[in-house]
Amino acid sequence: MIPENRTLLNDAARDLGVTLDDRSTDLFDRLHLLLDEASDGMNLTTIRDEREVVLKHFVDSISCLRGGFLDGELGVLDLGTGAGFPALPLAIVRADLTLTPLDATRRKIDFVDRTARALGLKNVTPLVGRAETIGRQDAHRARYDRVVTRAVASLPVLVELALPLLRVGGLLVAQKGPGVAEELPDAEGAAAQVGGRIHEVQDFRLPVTNDRRHLVVVEKTHETPDRYPRREGVPTKHPLS
Ligand code: SAH
Repeated sequence: MIPENRTLLNDAARDLGVTLDDRSTDLFDRLHLLLDEASDGMNLTTIRDEREVVLKHFVDSISCLRGGFLDGELGVLDLGTGAGFPALPLAIVRADLTLTPLDATRRKIDFVDRTARALGLKNVTPLVGRAETIGRQDAHRARYDRVVTRAVASLPVLVELALPLLRVGGLLVAQKGPGVAEELPDAEGAAAQVGGRIHEVQDFRLPVTNDRRHLVVVEKTHETPDRYPRREGVPTKHPLS
């Protein structure tokens, strides 16, 4: 990254309450390079410009830490991680988190796996599969303290996919843009069916771009009934409400 963008990243992170040391900034620098190289060969991300990568991928991912919902030694699954967002930035700035980036697309998970190794991030264990299937496996059901997610599905769908993966008392932290209000009533209904309730909605603006963001926090209060998540594709086709 050019010095200007390193400074931009450091300043924006500080605005979000995160101090990046030199090691972390270097890791972001290398992440940017690996993303750029890989994007030449495959369709990983539409964002290529360096400043845009810093703001729309790195800073945007770091903003999931707002509110302190990811503070502590927690097992965190990133539902629909794509090229590793927010999982990889979170792994860089928070060594105490254990991250499981999950995606249905193998080549994306292969990229995340290669990248985590290249950066020496030992707290990242990528997983390929659909959340509907993974959420029914003993190794993953009710095993996570947190599920984070960015730009994957509507809130009612996310609630059905995420809650089965959480232990009782765990939290879904869903990053959402400006239109979240419309999704909240159905998400509330969905949460009630899968053993949760909406705990809090944080409303804030990102540094520099001033883009509006919400963190919707859903708490798992009860065990999820066995019939959820429904089979692949059904949560999206017929969302709970
Ligand atoms: N979170 C990333 C990627 C968003 S694109 C980012 O913010 O940049 C959405 C990703 O979710 C895609 O890579 C898609 O493969 C994945 N996805 C969508 N539905 C899924 C499901 N049911 N299970 C697992 N992955 C899913």
